[in-house]
Parts: sequence; structure tokens; C-alpha cells
Amino acid sequence: MRIISANSIFNGINFLSQEMVLIIDDFGILKDIVKKTEIQSSEIEHYDGIIGPGFVNAHCHLELSHLFCQIKPNQGLIEFIKQVMTKRNNFNRKAQEDSAIEADFKMWESGIVAVGDISNVNSSFKIKASSKIYYHTFIELIGLNPLQSETIFEKGLTLLNELENYNLIGSLAPHSPYSSSKLLINKIANYNSLNNLAFSIHNQESEEETKFFAGKSSDIDDLFTYLNIDINWFNPPKISSLLSYLDIIPNKKSLLVHNTFCREEDIIASKSKFINWCFCPSANLFIENTLPNYDLFLNHNQNWCLGTDSLASNQKLDLCFEASILLAKSPLISIESILKALTYNGAMALGIEDKFGKLIIGKNTGLNLIQHSDKQLNFIKKIA
Ligand SMILES: [Zn+2]
Repeated sequence: MRIISANSIFNGINFLSQEMVLIIDDFGILKDIVKKTEIQSSEIEHYDGIIGPGFVNAHCHLELSHLFCQIKPNQGLIEFIKQVMTKRNNFNRKAQEDSAIEADFKMWESGIVAVGDISNVNSSFKIKASSKIYYHTFIELIGLNPLQSETIFEKGLTLLNELENYNLIGSLAPHSPYSSSKLLINKIANYNSLNNLAFSIHNQESEEETKFFAGKSSDIDDLFTYLNIDINWFNPPKISSLLSYLDIIPNKKSLLVHNTFCREEDIIASKSKFINWCFCPSANLFIENTLPNYDLFLNHNQNWCLGTDSLASNQKLDLCFEASILLAKSPLISIESILKALTYNGAMALGIEDKFGKLIIGKNTGLNLIQHSDKQLNFIKKIA
């Protein structure tokens, strides 16, 4: 048994009273939370900093890890997508797997215990199956033409079935509103709702998406020209992309990723649903060189969590690094709310809050030591 105390202990939702200590067994399982006065002080391991549950990375693409340093920054989302599409297959399977293994290991070493991870293909399944990290895999589907939605949906189910053969948990996810038809989004949303599974979509990541839905000339048209896909039949709804599909996404466990160009009216309209907004600040700076207006989400009391996105658009998969960007941009964010975003909110978004994201007696949800100083959150080490 180990008795752990720290300057402060965060339970995933709020700070515990300073007189409390944690009792964990040799496997890291939390046995009890008791008052210091009940314990002999010589038995206590004290840490300088904050101790809290392991981090949940709500958005990652482990299968793109081999694209580290392969893509030029600040070229905008559409150029980024083109480069990912052309470069991702320039590497053999072994090189792809080796990069993913290393990225998975580094995430674990940086205190991440659970990940919401996008897969377009099966290349990372084996790695996720043998990882110490818990993965919820989003099988991502792309298809703007409604006539193809049934075929694409069936292909997604086949890949999901293959994932489940590795004993991994997953659900289906449309890539984005500009690359997935409303019919396809609807099919996926219904499937996930029926099976009580998390839903995820890249949302309002670039201004080009807003223009595309408004019927204005947009780089997204160039992307379809580049891909040789005719979209003349596409009828722009002349509302924001989010408002065009908000009515059909699940009422809960809906994870909207990026939200860089989300406006206040979108957030207000979204209150009809229980949305988990996932921010990936480092990737936003890399791709679009801008950040969401976080204060809008805070002012409307929204649930938000954090993701790293992939190594194609990030220098490291490190949630404290992401949190520090947010703290610098929005100084009003409390340390409590950022810690909750890193733990409980991420777990809730993935539907795993009974296993991760908070201190649960009888479970090992990871224990991280972190320090907070002047708009900076630093991961120090794993305690369990
Ligand atoms: Zn992404």
C-alpha cells in the first residue's frame, strides 16, 4: 500500500480538501481517500504540486504519426488535407507502425491513459490493442455524395467489426460536414445513438468551411476539383456548417472537434444538445495559425475537453502543452476547469467516465503529478 499526499489533490471534477490523502495499492488501484490525521505521517509519500487522475486525449490520429515534420505549417486546412492525402502512403507499413508505437509510448509517458482516436484504415489496430492506453476508436467515414452513403456506411461497419476482433472499442464518425453528406451523418448518428456510443466530427475547422456552406467560392471547391469529384449537385444550405447538421447528431456523447470558426450563435443553438467541444490548439496554430475564441464557450458554460490531433499537425502529443496554449490565450480559465477538461470532461465525451477521468475507488485511473505556474501547466511524472 502507498499513501499519497500533495499540495493539492484534484479528483477529476474539483479539488479535495487539503487534509485528504489517497491510499493506493501496488497496482495503482485507489483503495480509499482518508484524512491525513488517520495516518502516521512517516508513512505518507508527499509530492510538491497537484495530483490528479490520468489525462484523456479526446482527439488524436495515431495512424498519422509517421507524418511528423512532413507537412509545412500555416498553409490552411485544405492544403494540409491535400498533403496528408498524398504523403500518408509514401511510407511502408513498418515505418508507419514504428512511428505509431513511439507516439503511443510517449503519450503514456506524458500521463495520458485514454485516447479518442480516429482511424480511416486498420494500420494502428494492432498497436492500440497491445497498448497500456485505453483507446476508443472512431472509424472515420468520408463521402459527400448522398448516393454513396449506404456503401460507405457498410464499409465503416466492416472496419468496425475488424476493430472489435482486436478486442477494441469503437464507433463510427463522419469526417466533417463538408466531406460527409447529411444522409451519411444521419446514418452514423443513428447507429451510435442506438448503441449508446460516442459520436465525433471535425467541426468548423476553417473559414473555407463557412464559405462553402454559405455558397461562396471556397478552397473546398478546389479540393474537390483536385480530387476529381464533381459536386455541382451540392446545394449550399446558406447557414453555418454546424447549423446544417446540428438537428441530426446524438443528443449526448457528441464530440465536436476544433470549432475554430464557431460563432456565438452556433454555440447558443447547440444548447439544445449536450455537446462536448474538443479543442486542439496546437494543431489550429499549425494549420490555420489561429485559435477558437475560447471565452465564448466559457461564457456559455459549455463542456469542453482537449485533444492533441496528430503528429502531422503537432510537434508532440502532450496535453499539458495544449492546456498551456489555452491558459496563455484565455487567462480567465481557472486551473480547476482546465484540469477537468484534461480528465473528467474527456472521459465523459468518450463515454468512459466509469473507468477514467476521475478518482474512482476500486479502479486505477492513473495518477499524474503536475505543476502549475504562470499560465503554464507542466507534467512532472506519473505516480501510478
Ligand atoms: Zn483530427
